[in-house]
Amino acid sequence: MALVIPTIEGLAPYEGGKPIEELARELGITDAVKLASNENPLGPSPRALEAAARVVADSHRYPDGAAYGLRAKLAAKHGVSMEEVLLGAGSNELLDLAVRVFCTRDSHIVFADPAFVVYRIAALTCGVPFTAVPLTAELRHDLPAMAAAVTPQTRLMFVANPNNPTGTHVGRAAVEKLLREVPPEVIIVMDEAYLEYADAPDYPDSLELRGLRERLLVLRTFSKIYGLAAFRVGYAVGPKQLIDYMNRVRAPFNVSTLAQAAATAALDDQAHVQSARELNARERARVSAALRGLGLTVAPSQANFVLVDLQRPARPVYDALLKKGVIVRPFASLPTSLRVTLGTERENDRFLNALTEVLS
Ligand SMILES: *Cc1c(COP(=O)(O)O)cnc(C)c1O
Repeated sequence: MALVIPTIEGLAPYEGGKPIEELARELGITDAVKLASNENPLGPSPRALEAAARVVADSHRYPDGAAYGLRAKLAAKHGVSMEEVLLGAGSNELLDLAVRVFCTRDSHIVFADPAFVVYRIAALTCGVPFTAVPLTAELRHDLPAMAAAVTPQTRLMFVANPNNPTGTHVGRAAVEKLLREVPPEVIIVMDEAYLEYADAPDYPDSLELRGLRERLLVLRTFSKIYGLAAFRVGYAVGPKQLIDYMNRVRAPFNVSTLAQAAATAALDDQAHVQSARELNARERARVSAALRGLGLTVAPSQANFVLVDLQRPARPVYDALLKKGVIVRPFASLPTSLRVTLGTERENDRFLNALTEVLS
């Protein structure tokens, strides 16, 4: 008998943005700028760090497995009950958990292509068949096509809004239609990791659309605008029944004491969130315009990164940028494009200058 199922045999490990330390080891570059993992260039709120520091001496104790304080705070923030909130070690864990809890190898999953690669990894890990529905020509989720891809076996649909790696969003009317029209047995997972960055008038907060559908899970994270990626904390809001099943299967103590403390304090520093949102909106407009000024195509972004189409093989440009100490993100599925996280003004200038040099 095979050691693993064929889909795990064919799986490549998740490859994140190149760490600054790795570039230092490989090329001896010590002043690199990392614009590769959609991290907050302002860092975490100082209040989050102070809160984590206050509990570090308790590190011999297991965390509160129920994460009472943080869950209560999130429930209050969103006007739901605590039984409708589940924490994860990043929303990554919750994506994976959704597949493990609700799917078997006889099920089927629908997501977009390209979208967040974790959807595919989670499906392959559990050997669950899936349909990856191409984005539209404007690089948006094709929600009608995704609805049409649903079969009687479909148990899950993942929708990243805004999407990663494109930064594009789908509007309220299309999301409402999806939530209403997809058969009720399908669990729709709205992955809103970048929600706080979205400012388009038609961008929907799907927590406001919960009335349209019972089987809806909304995922949020502290990794992006809250600047707490290293702590690994995200959460799901959904109906009690779904949250209860996921809670039975999640690892005990999946969110560390430090992460719970930092996230709880971060929620109280909305001024920090607002600064990050404003910086990002300014830089998103400026960097997008500068790239278009170079004759390049930029997908309309509602997130904290832009996808730029270089109209030539992107890998050599990625490598040349690395040599200049600028780390961005290439994607095998988008061979002429690079995803560039929006940093501080100085970091973005460094990227724009390096790119201009590389392209000339
Ligand atoms: C970054 C990201 C996440 C969040 O990952 P964490 O595990 O919470 O760090 C989830 N979904 C998408 C689409 C993302 O880009």
